[in-house]
Amino acid sequence: VGGVSVPDVRSWIDRFAELVHAERDRLTELDAAVGDADHGSNLDRGMKAAAAAAGELGDAAPGELLKKVGMTLVSTVGGASGPLYGTLFLRMGASLGEATDVDGPAFAAALRAGLVGVAARGKAEVGDKTLLDALTPAVDELDAVLAEGASLSEALGRASTAADAGRDATEPLVARKGRASYLGERSAGHQDPGATSVALLVAAAAQTL
Ligand code: ADP
Ligand code: MG
Ligand code: MG
Repeated sequence: VGGVSVPDVRSWIDRFAELVHAERDRLTELDAAVGDADHGSNLDRGMKAAAAAAGELGDAAPGELLKKVGMTLVSTVGGASGPLYGTLFLRMGASLGEATDVDGPAFAAALRAGLVGVAARGKAEVGDKTLLDALTPAVDELDAVLAEGASLSEALGRASTAADAGRDATEPLVARKGRASYLGERSAGHQDPGATSVALLVAAAAQTL
């Protein structure tokens, strides 16, 4: 009761794929301002493939499902976001291993492991105007609210609010990583595309887990 099951993970992945599809043009528009106008199409293609792969996996543990999602993203999405989103899901999967009983703290620990992996892979820090600016406050809030004894569902709701705030806060920042950093000071005044898609990932979790 209250744990994260295989159908729950499938719902999360499916919901994220739906949200990315619905927001594809907006994500691409944001990337047109600071990058190469492909974030929406990259992630839409990847999440379609990932949702299909997760659906075909049969009787797997939550961690195995997440690994499959990560591998699919690495192989179908190029650029910066493919390896970074891939790492997020692969590390989550590795953290959960073959566990079938995934409670709130185990899920939060997996998301934290994913965050640490993404930061290491991209060598970025909070404030660099990347997807970490939405993911980090979300994971911090998830831990803090779970520590108060709240349910995973409630904690994810608060984490989603924190992700949205982190996303919004990327707008005035000057990018220090990724393509947007090529613009230097001119990257300020635009919301980061990756932070925007990560906020959808956390929103999808809050809606399904
Ligand atoms: P590309 O820039 O290769 O075209 P995408 O457009 O799909 O890739 O993704 C761009 C997003 O990736 C950025 O908005 C940013 O959030 C994220 N990103 C880029 N570089 C890094 C990095 N080193 N660490 C974390 N996130 C990054
Ligand atoms: Mg791009
Ligand atoms: Mg690109």
